[in-house]
Amino acid sequence: MNDSYELQQERAPETEAFDAIILGAGVSGLVAASVLVKQSSGRIMVVDSYDRVGGNHLDWSRNGFTFDVGSLIFQDDSPLVKHFPELLEHYVHIHPSWGRLNPQRKITTYPISVKDDIIAAGPLVICRIMLSVLAARIQRKTMRNAKDFAAYWIGAYLLRRSGLENYMARFYGVAPDHIDLELAQKRMLWIKEHSSLTNLLRKMWKRRSPAQIAPPNKQLARPKAGYSALYEPVKHTLSQSGVAFRLGIDIAKLEKSAGRFVVTSSCGKTMAAARVISTIPINIISGLCGLAQNQPLQTITLISLYFSFSGNRGFAQSILYNFSYEAAWKRLTVYSDFYGSNEGREYFAVEVVANEIISSIELAEAEFRQHVAKNGIFDGDLRLEGGHVLDNAYPIYVHGAAANARQQIDILKQFGIESFGRHGAFNYQPTARVSTLEAEEALNYRHPDAQPA
Ligand SMILES: Cc1cc2nc3c(=O)[nH]c(=O)nc-3n(C[C@H](O)[C@H](O)[C@H](O)COP(=O)(O)OP(=O)(O)OC[C@H]3O[C@@H](n4cnc5c(N)ncnc54)[C@H](O)[C@@H]3O)c2cc1C
Repeated sequence: MNDSYELQQERAPETEAFDAIILGAGVSGLVAASVLVKQSSGRIMVVDSYDRVGGNHLDWSRNGFTFDVGSLIFQDDSPLVKHFPELLEHYVHIHPSWGRLNPQRKITTYPISVKDDIIAAGPLVICRIMLSVLAARIQRKTMRNAKDFAAYWIGAYLLRRSGLENYMARFYGVAPDHIDLELAQKRMLWIKEHSSLTNLLRKMWKRRSPAQIAPPNKQLARPKAGYSALYEPVKHTLSQSGVAFRLGIDIAKLEKSAGRFVVTSSCGKTMAAARVISTIPINIISGLCGLAQNQPLQTITLISLYFSFSGNRGFAQSILYNFSYEAAWKRLTVYSDFYGSNEGREYFAVEVVANEIISSIELAEAEFRQHVAKNGIFDGDLRLEGGHVLDNAYPIYVHGAAANARQQIDILKQFGIESFGRHGAFNYQPTARVSTLEAEEALNYRHPDAQPA
């Protein structure tokens, strides 16, 4: 027998009403919630498919070993801390150092070493480097992509010889001549800075004092207990201000109805608000809203390998970049340098950008082992403790991707959704600092303690 209409109405789940719903509880979503509280924007709900806040700041621990998906380092002067000062007491103060495995199988300075990459190469190579830079400057051909950009500043010869070209391909997931120029101009300014003649000469001849070399701020890592210990207090502060959280839920759809947005979870629960702020991937939010996408945006899948090790690791730095000509791994971070070794074993995480060949933890591990053996690092007992595959880790900037993303953000805007953040703006935000500032900007907010621009 069918239930009466009255009975059905009684059983229908109630729609929870809010003034704003924020999708995503990463740094962008948390800062958005903090800003809305400060702007007195009424009842706020934060929704995430993870069962905890902090977004893709992900850790993994087992048997006394503790890893992150990648190299995650923070600073005490970050604007994020202005929103959430409670973070500060939970961070661990660290002293990281950065190195790079170059194509000549040498561990040297990151991102480039004048001594090892240029001077040690001998007069013939120096001449080739100089001629190549000269040729690039004289030709001054129109820059069309990231490779042209880098070659203009350091010359095609040094770009190849230093391994920077290979590292760029590894990092961005496509060959540098397929990377959008817009990204290069925005995110690769360091190449220009490092290669300007005056800077180069200053580096070569001027000895800097230790105070000048030291970073101006404190470098921090999450507590050994993991990211939950760092971000739970943030969730608590926001909850105290009236922000509600629905974590660990799958969103099934997002519709517009009677001038408001209705979010339906896969278990049929609904919540509604006049305002939706999205910090989740554009492809996902567009799909949930049923909005057409001409071309889906491509993102990196990041494989993280978690190793423990006993023996001679062959380098002193805590973070090592792979600038060699081979292997898909791009960077490794020695976490035991930050948290201490475990039962005499060091431990580190390796970031590998997945590609058509290296598409699983097993394949990434096999290739990494082969590569480090060939390059004489990690001579000893290397044990894989675990691994993680992260989809949508960051955007891939193939030609036209930035324009495509802008168009899709515009379509979302016309639909009424504000989209920002690493995924929401399809913008490679390298740090929580950048994510915070861009979230503030998107919401027309300036923190009263912010440094003058
Ligand atoms: C490998 C790696 C290294 C990094 N290194 C540093 C570093 O050294 N220093 C630093 O300051 N920052 C670092 N970052 C942080 C990063 O660059 C950004 O600052 C920050 O993570 C971006 O925050 P976000 O909120 O925009 O995105 P995210 O943190 O990615 O958050 C997006 C959220 O959206 C949620 N979501 C996705 N789809 C859905 C869905 N369908 N429904 C509901 N929720 C959904 C996700 O679960 C996630 O919580 C690193 C990040 C990574 C991944």
